Amino acid sequence: MGKHAIVVGLGFAGTVLARLLADSGFTVTAFDRRPNVAGNMFEYERSNGVRVHMYGPHIFHTDRKYVYEYLSRFSAFYPYSHRVLGQIDGKLVPIPFNFTSIEKLFPQNQAEKLKSELLEHFDPDSRVFVSDLLRHPVAEISALGQYIFEKVFRNYSAKQWGVPADSLDASVLRRVPVIIGKDDRYFPDSIQMMPIFGYTELFENMLRHPSISVHLNSDALKRVRPHAPSGKFLLDGVPFDGPVCFTGSIDELFDYALGALPYRSLELCLEDYPVDYYQNATVVNYPNEENFTRITEFKHMTLQDIPNATTIMKEYPIAFHPGGRMVPFYPIQTDENRSLYSDYLSLCGKYDRLYLCGRLAEYRYLNMDAVVDSALQVFEKIIRDRDYE
Ligand code: FAD
Ligand code: UDP
Repeated sequence: MGKHAIVVGLGFAGTVLARLLADSGFTVTAFDRRPNVAGNMFEYERSNGVRVHMYGPHIFHTDRKYVYEYLSRFSAFYPYSHRVLGQIDGKLVPIPFNFTSIEKLFPQNQAEKLKSELLEHFDPDSRVFVSDLLRHPVAEISALGQYIFEKVFRNYSAKQWGVPADSLDASVLRRVPVIIGKDDRYFPDSIQMMPIFGYTELFENMLRHPSISVHLNSDALKRVRPHAPSGKFLLDGVPFDGPVCFTGSIDELFDYALGALPYRSLELCLEDYPVDYYQNATVVNYPNEENFTRITEFKHMTLQDIPNATTIMKEYPIAFHPGGRMVPFYPIQTDENRSLYSDYLSLCGKYDRLYLCGRLAEYRYLNMDAVVDSALQVFEKIIRDRDYE
């Protein structure tokens, strides 16, 4: 019968694992409950010809060269450096907040003074956290920190997470620094690229392998079940001896036995317009006005040359409730939630052929490159763990 593996979920976590396992001699049965592969990276073309990301804008950026090299086996990539503007007091300024943002929002004299204070206390072109400014001993710098926190972070974060910004885990706001200079790129990473024909094609190329069978519209938990007395998984009621790679939510895997893990979701609204461009940047953030957090215009990212047609997406953050059609986009990082997650991990410990990978299964706010990296590591562990026959 040979080596057989199960993969649940076909985002980056599941797809990379499926491909690695197939390339190393496993027969892989892979499930996704959606009608398509590519998880939250799913990209499709609208009737106006614009390619959009159905689950929110996804920009590939990394310092992990081996991750990029691995993905490059399945698609060519084009360079794309992501830039974001934020609407602050009626003006559009670069986010992360940088020297240009200071120049646009403060009178010239004050802007010059603020920039030279910052350069005196921080390295040129460094990326610092707003919390570094807030607690700085120099009064002008901490006041600037307060200004940035109020104008950029406080209301956006409250909208995004549904809780006050100062109650969030520090790692959340640290994703968006303040730049001591004029670099206006959203990400500092050395590699910033996009798959040339979009993510969906990249995923289809990864999954095109004679040993991978893909089952879409297929909730794996209807066929793959944990069986506590044996410490094994059952596939269609029969004990399964191969690795089970699970990239969904682990509360769901155990029927919410310990309670639901909290997530934040989004309502994503697409709008088409018969114009060349809707806005001057790929993304405009609306920290303070509007109920949505940001507007993405995909043509700036896909670099498609389509006259008189464009598509934008507005992101409305919403509470997540399991069981419905909502997508569990963001794990909510609190001590309480991490502790519930680790209780679920104890349940997983009974199953020595279960492998967790990805943003949901690891319950971490991971970017795509970190998820691909995690899949590369989980694969190594599967190979190390035992001689699957
Ligand atoms: P997912 O992509 O969520 O895939 C999990 C898959 O498992 C889904 O397709 C789901 O349907 C399936 N599944 C779950 N349970 C089951 C089941 N029981 N049976 C069958 N199938 C199941 N990262 C970046 O690096 N750059 C960005 O610009 C970026 N932008 C983002 C924007 C938004 C709005 C969000 C929410 C995230 C963004 N990310 C970005 C993060 C990125 O989405 C994640 O890193 C990535 O989706 C993780 O891949 P994954 O495979 O772990 O999960
Ligand atoms: N954030 C903010 N204002 C902004 C941009 C980001 O307050 O203009 C905060 C917000 O809490 C957000 C976090 O920084 O959730 C991380 O931002 P990022 O752009 O990385 O979010 P993602 O793209 O993952 O939704």
